Amino acid sequence: MIRTRFAPSPTGYMHAGGVRTALFAYLIAKQSNGKFILRIEDTDQNRLVKDSVDHIIRTLNSLGINYDEGPDIDGPYGPYRQSQRLEIYHQWAIKLLNQGRAYADLTTQEELNQFRNLAKENKRPFLFRDYRPTTKNQWQVGQPLRFLSNPKPYFWHDEVMGDLSAGPEAVDDFILIKSDGYPTYNFAHIVDDYLMKCSHVIRSNEFIASVPKFLNLYEALDIEKPLLVTLPPIMNDNGNKKLSKRDGAKDILEYMNAGYLKDALLNFLVTLGWNDGSTQEIFSIQEITEKFDIHRIQKSGAKFDQKRLDWMNAQYIKKLSDDQLLELLQPFWPKSTNNFPPDYLLKVAKIFQDRIRYGQEISELSSYFFEDQLINLDLIFQDKQLKNLPKDILINLLQVSEQELKATPFDQNLMTKLNQLLVQTNQKPNILFSLIRIATTQSPHSPGLSDTMQILGQETCLRRIADTIKELKK
Ligand code: GLU
Repeated sequence: MIRTRFAPSPTGYMHAGGVRTALFAYLIAKQSNGKFILRIEDTDQNRLVKDSVDHIIRTLNSLGINYDEGPDIDGPYGPYRQSQRLEIYHQWAIKLLNQGRAYADLTTQEELNQFRNLAKENKRPFLFRDYRPTTKNQWQVGQPLRFLSNPKPYFWHDEVMGDLSAGPEAVDDFILIKSDGYPTYNFAHIVDDYLMKCSHVIRSNEFIASVPKFLNLYEALDIEKPLLVTLPPIMNDNGNKKLSKRDGAKDILEYMNAGYLKDALLNFLVTLGWNDGSTQEIFSIQEITEKFDIHRIQKSGAKFDQKRLDWMNAQYIKKLSDDQLLELLQPFWPKSTNNFPPDYLLKVAKIFQDRIRYGQEISELSSYFFEDQLINLDLIFQDKQLKNLPKDILINLLQVSEQELKATPFDQNLMTKLNQLLVQTNQKPNILFSLIRIATTQSPHSPGLSDTMQILGQETCLRRIADTIKELKK
């Protein structure tokens, strides 16, 4: 039975790194009908951030990374918050104490500093085991408890990183239980993975140097280690640094709130360090679940490329049905949309469907469909082509257009009419159409001019052209 877990510490929001770990663990479980577990690792009381458990749960739920057991879904091996399992860690600590594999650590901070300095003077790496106390103290809750390690070299296999090894210097006496009575990550996760019957440990690469310590503890506890699956780091946009909150890695919920689609985000995240061996980039969630394979996870870092995410999201937006598109855009329409009938909204939505990268973009891009904009003649005076034309020519071009458009029905023949206007005025599209576009939308870019004008309607277009002429005449 495959059982995987996502074991976040509730220390804030989740960025791409955490969500990708959760997704990979979820996929490994789901593709073999296994179980996926959410375990909250809240044993570092100083780092807890209020509401982050809720935030983690909300993030996973919104993306459909559904867990079978977790803090709010009871299962056979709960509770699933480490702070509610202190009794369990205590029992396992006693087991180690009874075997002589743990000891109370009464070292003071000063002594610890002394040991460190000594190691430095002797040009040796500092290992606590070199300074183990010689007298055996009874351990009491409230004192740190250390593991009595059995240093030796290790060779082990990681499902992604391959065959790895480390010398005995990687094994030290680490703390099992802290003076506040809470276990360390090093101790708690090993006990929990065992008790929760986790078959795989899927986690980020920051733990890889500690694996020899963990292997030593597995041996002392006489438990079998799960399969180790170390994920490659996610690098920032420049590819030169690990993606981190400090360097602006965004909350994944923020992307959702900005109108990125769940399936696009999942597709993007799954390709951060995984591919199916082909050049395919767009995968449905079903394809992802079928094709995902631990052995195709890459070892080297994966770049978080914002432009690629935008491109991918745009591909998903293009495929939305009318209803899905309206649902995506619903939170982002400019306020003034209330006065417009639903079919008008749909027309505007569809004209932008091929152009937006994420939902929020509709807000600014579509504003002229709902409200006259302030006239900004700089759009004309700073336009590459238009700025060379004298004002009276500009006015004349707009007046001729106004005349002609007055007599033209705004239907599918409008494009033909606009083309005739080019001939009539002897102008190129990047002069005449740019001018009409700016006059009718107060924007240098818009979807196709004829389509845009048809949606705006004759009355609005003529009014805006007249207003622009007036402004130019001032
Ligand atoms: N609590 C650890 C973290 O948030 C989890 C590491 C693991 O998956 O074992 O980084």
